Amino acid sequence: VNIYDAIIVGGGPSGASTAFFLSRAGWNVAVVEKHEFPRGKVCGEFISATNRPLLEAMQVGGQWERDSGPPVNRVALFAREYAFSAAISTPCESGPWGRAMSRASLDCLLLHAAETAGAHLWQPWRVVRHASEEGLHRCTIQAGGITEEIRGRVLIAAHGSWEVGNLSTQLKPSKLPSDLLGFKMFFHRTRLDEDLMPLIAFPGGYGGMAHTGKGKVGLSCCIRRDVLENRRKFYGAPTAAAAVLRHILTTTTAVADTLSGSIEAERARAAGPIRPGIRDCYRDGIFRVGNVAGEAHPVIAEGITMALQSGALLARSLVAGGDQSATSLDRCGKTYSRSWSSQFSVRIRSANLFAKMAMTEMGTSTMIRSIQRFPSLLTVGSALSGKAKPFSPG
Ligand SMILES: Cc1cc2nc3c(=O)[nH]c(=O)nc-3n(C[C@H](O)[C@H](O)[C@H](O)COP(=O)(O)OP(=O)(O)OC[C@H]3O[C@@H](n4cnc5c(N)ncnc54)[C@H](O)[C@@H]3O)c2cc1C
Repeated sequence: VNIYDAIIVGGGPSGASTAFFLSRAGWNVAVVEKHEFPRGKVCGEFISATNRPLLEAMQVGGQWERDSGPPVNRVALFAREYAFSAAISTPCESGPWGRAMSRASLDCLLLHAAETAGAHLWQPWRVVRHASEEGLHRCTIQAGGITEEIRGRVLIAAHGSWEVGNLSTQLKPSKLPSDLLGFKMFFHRTRLDEDLMPLIAFPGGYGGMAHTGKGKVGLSCCIRRDVLENRRKFYGAPTAAAAVLRHILTTTTAVADTLSGSIEAERARAAGPIRPGIRDCYRDGIFRVGNVAGEAHPVIAEGITMALQSGALLARSLVAGGDQSATSLDRCGKTYSRSWSSQFSVRIRSANLFAKMAMTEMGTSTMIRSIQRFPSLLTVGSALSGKAKPFSPG
């Protein structure tokens, strides 16, 4: 039986960042990731400029810049027949700006950085059960019909929030009409300005677009389950993704203009329901990072940022905490929860408000009228969503 200082469940951005910073501090870390990489993901793939110091610390800043799309320095609102744009907020006036990078590439890059720093990867292995006794966490892991057990003094849940399962940190299934389902589509030959990231407001949902490099533009969005079902029947669409795209193109002139003459580059992906909200950072002796700790509506494109930065915050608390006794870990849980809240709670609340406005007729009308009068509200919105909040990984 292997005994680690920490076991991290999930090798997405939150798991990789936690693993990197703990390993760099000399911890013996295992990351269990159920998928082979590279793997795609439903995600807008935009990474805010605030992550530059963290990516540099992980020694992947240069590659991120080379392999991602062009710098994004303007945000926009595409709603009904309107299109407004304004400068994006960043922590530093002269840039560097945020960029979008395919999750297939980004997640490989980050996990490789964690492995180079010394983390042991169990991939593709899935954690199927967890139990604790005498200060040790026992994880049962499975791959290709083989079952193993690994043990760790600290357990970190970094498995995201969109899948259900048997682990106590996973969310219960949901099948409500108001559930938000996520979609991702890619296009070649669009008319999207290279430096622009529009927020798309459409009835029953919201979305965004960005260049992700190599001439590809990603369109990601969330739509209410009931609206999707209704639109699918109405259009007689062969797939859910086709119904979503038709709904957006029919209701939002600027998206139709941007995508006119474009070619769909890959098969669309779907995920969800997504689970926005503030949850626990530490409970029942288990630490949580990324979407497990809390999730902002993707309308603000800050989930990867929160995943990366929460991993660094947790690692900082654990390393400063000294030993791994129950008392020290409880103290770390408190420190980490406080720093998480001061870094992310404003953007989660702002995202709730923006999402509600984008999805409803009245909210969209209010946004259009306000931005018509004060276009700089778009810049203010990007600041409220955390895009100007500096972060130092320490
Ligand atoms: C439509 C949409 C658009 C978005 N756009 C953006 C954007 O532009 N910018 C942005 O910053 N954020 C965006 N997000 C949010 C972002 O995708 C998430 O917040 C981010 O992926 C969270 O990272 P994570 O590490 O917490 O979880 P994940 O990225 O979900 O990673 C979790 C990992 O854990 C693994 N795993 C799960 N269960 C197990 C298990 N039992 N055992 C082992 N491994 C397991 C999974 O395979 C996965 O690799 C968007 C989300 C949606 C839905």
